[in-house]
Amino acid sequence: MQIHAQSVLLGNDWANDVRVTVQDGKIASIDTGVGRKAEDLGVDCLLPALANLHSHSFQRAMAGMTETRVTGKDSFWSWRSLMYRFLDHLTPEQVEAIAALVFMEMQETGYASVGEFHYLHHQPGGAAYSKLSEMSQRIFAAATTTGIGLTHLPVLYTYGGVNQEPLAGGQLRFGNDVERFLRLVEECRHNLSALPDDARIGIAPHSLRATSPGDLTQTLANAPDGPVHIHVSEQLQEVAEVSTKLGQRPVEWLLSNVDVNARWCLIHATHMTKVETIAMAESGAVAGLCPITEANLGDGAFNGPTYLQHSGNFGLGSDSNVRISLTEELRVLEYSQRLRDMQRNVLAVDGGSTGAALYCGAARGGAQALNRDAGAISIGKLADLVAVDRTHPTLSALSDAQVLDGLCFAASDQVITDTWSAGRHMVREGQHIARAQITARYSKAIHSLLECL
Ligand code: ZN
Repeated sequence: MQIHAQSVLLGNDWANDVRVTVQDGKIASIDTGVGRKAEDLGVDCLLPALANLHSHSFQRAMAGMTETRVTGKDSFWSWRSLMYRFLDHLTPEQVEAIAALVFMEMQETGYASVGEFHYLHHQPGGAAYSKLSEMSQRIFAAATTTGIGLTHLPVLYTYGGVNQEPLAGGQLRFGNDVERFLRLVEECRHNLSALPDDARIGIAPHSLRATSPGDLTQTLANAPDGPVHIHVSEQLQEVAEVSTKLGQRPVEWLLSNVDVNARWCLIHATHMTKVETIAMAESGAVAGLCPITEANLGDGAFNGPTYLQHSGNFGLGSDSNVRISLTEELRVLEYSQRLRDMQRNVLAVDGGSTGAALYCGAARGGAQALNRDAGAISIGKLADLVAVDRTHPTLSALSDAQVLDGLCFAASDQVITDTWSAGRHMVREGQHIARAQITARYSKAIHSLLECL
């Protein structure tokens, strides 16, 4: 496939009148100043598409259901109780239908790939399905339907709290000891071979609340490569519990007890001291930031300036999927910092365009976290691409140097016209090519789910 673009972001620079040739899912050549040939697909502005590094797709079905104040002080923990009610009923068919809708929405907003942090493994009550990886295979089916680039992250979830309490209620569907978890990962790895070869697998110890130091060490010893994701420091209550139990704050403990390096992605590195922030930046790990969800749950704001001044890697995730919007995710990230610091352009720590710092930083970090050779338009990289309509009124007055600022701060997702996931051209003229079928199946699934709640 040949794509001709009026403008293309190549590294940090813009080029005009460019043909990008895609072969076997990768960028095979980039030619500038060649004019558009009849066989080229013409687009306006071509960017590297971002990876969405953190998603729990089934939570999309709860969006809008937890925004009513029911107690004196509503919190993350009241949100979690509704999630557990959902868990009493969700079937594999429903999980697949919801995931397909979510992945489609991600592609329509400009994400080429997703890291599915997958912890819903078993039947209500905790019995395993006849196929241990049944639920993971439903996620694979949704990835196949949508064509999104999948990095599957099966979750190790063993305990109901930092003191190794037994699992109860909805949590029983998550539970595995290390031995069964490793079997599950192996089964997933085997079944993943049915997906295109850009699909990846990693592991995700859920949090320091849901695993133990010994189990974590044993799991890591059996998973020598691939991404490792963990929820790390989302809530102050979690920081207090871990500090009491392990004698160190969560990020502090992880950095001093485990070899945290570039294969790691620390989700919700929200509550960190300055020392933790610098040490994490220097570890080479990726900070998995989920600005819309973190705002929705009232988590707190990430220490962006210190982290970026020390060249920390970061990427974006839509986490609870309460709202799937790449442009909004980018702007909530920067606005959370502006409101706290009472300054503007906080995350452009090296000066220059804030939009470029956010977009290009998230493209690099997201690709690293999902183990995808993507995040930039250059020869040999995966063709994770997104096309933007710069003739749209929100962008039409902007120069090349301003267009990412327009995307981050002014535009809606309506400016996205096309998305390719490893060369798979799934979004055309702003719509996913299987939208009607995916939406109909979702409607049916959500209807049957709501009847049970
Ligand atoms: Zn999460």
